[in-house]
Amino acid sequence: MTINIGWLYPDLMSTYGDRGNIIALSYRLKKRGIKPIVHKISVHEPKELILKMDIIFMGGAQDKQQEIVNIDLKNNKGKYLKEAIVHGVPGLFVCGAYQFLGKYYKAADGTIIEGLGVFDLYTESPGLKVSRCIGNIIIESKLFPKIKLVGFENHGGRTYLSDQKLAFAKVIKGFGNNGEDLTEGIFYKNSFGTYLHGPILPKNPELSDYLIKKALERKYGKGTKLKKINNRWENIARSWVINKL
Ligand code: GLN
Repeated sequence: MTINIGWLYPDLMSTYGDRGNIIALSYRLKKRGIKPIVHKISVHEPKELILKMDIIFMGGAQDKQQEIVNIDLKNNKGKYLKEAIVHGVPGLFVCGAYQFLGKYYKAADGTIIEGLGVFDLYTESPGLKVSRCIGNIIIESKLFPKIKLVGFENHGGRTYLSDQKLAFAKVIKGFGNNGEDLTEGIFYKNSFGTYLHGPILPKNPELSDYLIKKALERKYGKGTKLKKINNRWENIARSWVINKL
């Protein structure tokens, strides 16, 4: 079995160790005898490649890089990315990537970057004089009962969902979408938008396995079972963050 992982704009959207998410996915696939093939899809790669992916990942960036990526998404790859998400390809979209998939992102200097409109949300930065949302974060999600997920967030933008029920999780400690309504991220079809860099997947193996399971089911059929992996070290890392906060 093989799983194609599409890593969108790794050269531009990879600010806070987001590549750890690719490493975690590949590690957990290999442990189960499944071959991960990582495709780096940036500005010069063909847009059609997106539709061949079994899992899609895109990380965060500073406003400047977001403007460059925005041009390529608008003129080129956006339509394909939207199609993949709407058809249920499992995806993880962190911070800047998450913002792109909403209706629009208003950057710190006031520039409006139109989004792809896949997620029903918008994001606005309150400007450079207001503090960014930075620090370790703990969240709880109904999708993963009985556990707390942890990560690290660093964003100026404040995201508002059209309906709080769309949230991926509830904030226990930290800022999440906007520091006000305790929502974190969004869950739509099989995709997650989130502010957790972290990187999120190494510390939260349940989320990696969710993406992997959905990808396998879409490719190889519903009955596909995931072999258990010992998560001792992942759990130690997670507990360490939780105890520190
Ligand atoms: N530039 C965006 C913001 O500040 C996204 C930041 C990020 O991806 N870490 O909100």
